[in-house]
Amino acid sequence: MIHNPLLTPWTAPFGLPPFQDIRAEHFEPAFAAAMQEQLDELRHIATQAAAPTFDNTVAAFDRTGRLLSRVAAVFYNLTASETNPELQAVQRRMAAPLADHDSAIYLDAALFARIDGLHAQRDTLGLTAEQRRLLERVHLDFVRAGARLQGSARARYAAVMAELAELTTRFAQNVLHDENAWRLVLRTEADLAGLPDFLRANARQAAAERGVPGGHVITLSRSLVVPFLTFSERRDLREQAWRAWTSRGEHHGPADNREVARDILRLRHEQARLHGHACYADHALADTMAGTRSAVQRLFDEVWPRALQAVQREREALVEQMAAEGQGGDIEAWDWRYWAEKVRQARYAVDDAEVKPYFRLEAMVQAAFDCAQRLFGLRFVPRPELPVYHPDVKAYEVQDAQGQAVGLFLQDNFARPSKRSGAWMSSLRWQNRNAPSAMAELPVILNNNNFAKGAPGEPTLLSLDDARTLFHEFGHGLHGLLSDVTFERLSGTQVLRDFVELPSQLFEHWLSEPEVLRAHARHWKTGEPMPEALMQRLHAARQFNQGYETVRYTASAIVDMAVHARTDAEPPADLCAFEADLMRQQGLPQGVGLNHRLVHFQHLFAGSAYAAGYYVYLWAEVLDADGFDAFREAGNPFDPQLALSLRRYIYGSGNSLEPGAAFEAFRGRKPTVTPLLRKRGLIADAAQPA
Ligand SMILES: [Zn+2]
Repeated sequence: MIHNPLLTPWTAPFGLPPFQDIRAEHFEPAFAAAMQEQLDELRHIATQAAAPTFDNTVAAFDRTGRLLSRVAAVFYNLTASETNPELQAVQRRMAAPLADHDSAIYLDAALFARIDGLHAQRDTLGLTAEQRRLLERVHLDFVRAGARLQGSARARYAAVMAELAELTTRFAQNVLHDENAWRLVLRTEADLAGLPDFLRANARQAAAERGVPGGHVITLSRSLVVPFLTFSERRDLREQAWRAWTSRGEHHGPADNREVARDILRLRHEQARLHGHACYADHALADTMAGTRSAVQRLFDEVWPRALQAVQREREALVEQMAAEGQGGDIEAWDWRYWAEKVRQARYAVDDAEVKPYFRLEAMVQAAFDCAQRLFGLRFVPRPELPVYHPDVKAYEVQDAQGQAVGLFLQDNFARPSKRSGAWMSSLRWQNRNAPSAMAELPVILNNNNFAKGAPGEPTLLSLDDARTLFHEFGHGLHGLLSDVTFERLSGTQVLRDFVELPSQLFEHWLSEPEVLRAHARHWKTGEPMPEALMQRLHAARQFNQGYETVRYTASAIVDMAVHARTDAEPPADLCAFEADLMRQQGLPQGVGLNHRLVHFQHLFAGSAYAAGYYVYLWAEVLDADGFDAFREAGNPFDPQLALSLRRYIYGSGNSLEPGAAFEAFRGRKPTVTPLLRKRGLIADAAQPA
């Protein structure tokens, strides 16, 4: 075989791959070899003569597939951050074989029999808490993948899952189709009325990409349509854009998602029934921190009525502003953002152009490092000589207070055509002490952002939202870097989906601390700290329009839960009518709307990870708001005792603790929803939680 750098031992520090030698053509043979290697490892476990023990079966299972996970980690990081047509072609070709490989693992009856037997005796095996957690987690992974099903149910389950994979792909492609099929061409200065410079520039770029030279084009991409609805003075054009945006997936023809979504719901119901659940929501929630529909409903009950009251107060302010500008009539859905922006300018006078010079990228990176140092004693030491996949990637060795390495952090901050949009954390290696080599493995963690790079000789300046994203992803990064567990399956961010946003959302709070801003938010030219008055205006504007945002988000979360909680095998005949009826019952005010309607709700139907799971952001926000309050109560945002316990129970424990118990161990009690309500301005500011 020709030399394949993916299959040779990686000898660089922290086991970094030899990025400079890796080509697209290396992946398929490497995947094939790595999958075979894991199958051999699994056969060895399943067919050994020795009776099952935790060590020869469960811990051994955790050690399998390391070659595959290291090849896959390089592959997925490259396809996300530095892709090309060759890699994309490999990605399409590998999707099916990799899915089949997963099925081969989780439907291996002999392997499952050993794990299932141990699981049944788990109380008498003398396991440590983490060993027991691993056994329960691995067992549940098998069960939820269908390992318990027998005979025809087993075959039917595989068919349901295959059909779901096909339908969710089609759903996403249909949304993309409708987004690409619509454009609003702005031809005259009158069409552009109200649009700020950055939006004109983006609309010119969109026009150039679509062969409308010299023109301006608004598409249904969120980054164009939302600012257009916010700034355009043309009510008629706002209405056109709004109607196109909210009817994605609802047009007769080959891209109609109404039946696709119904087919997905029908199959999910069948999937849940095969697992013995009454509805899909019960199946999805069984593996979450919330656990039950009633726990999620209690959160909705706390938030929804208060958000409705807040949105009513906001509507009054908007109508006042309309009247002040001599406009009568009612607020329609395509008016809200426009008038909200006018009120924001009038009341808080917060302007991005005024804020950005204080948020130089390098200073904000230092701010995040500084917070990690003050909380956890970490130091970030640049290692520019290490191999990375793109010159923009910065490598840092992360050291503890004693100068011992705890991991490697790679930060890739800039947008480029070879990178997908958004911001995310990923890993090249999870921290664990269960490697086949018997060596403890330190984590290699990545953060990707999509900041627009400053022109040559100019600094990269962030908006407040950008800086928050930087801190958010860095919070996920710390969750990976501070992981201190034995088993790979329990490491870092591999936790339940309604817990995973806690470390990231929590870390955002430190960015808003006045002492952090005073130290790091300095004008890039003069070095002057941000004026106190500007800081106060930023603080005051934080709760602005939160009623609107909360209602739109929660409405979509309520629809998600309701549509997945039905116990009828047959989905509603008309999903749009189901959604409209439900929102009428819930009292969704006219002029507000949902974040996502079912016909284009990609969280729910472009995959299954967030089906009956759109609530998770709000769930985690209860935890982060309450968690940060602990520091407030201590009177010190860097209180050393609290930081120690935060590291131990939240950032360091991975999935080795039950998440509710982990939070309680940190906070000293169960979470309360009050801090979240206060943070969003849904209750008066004065009350402190008991
Ligand atoms: Zn996140």
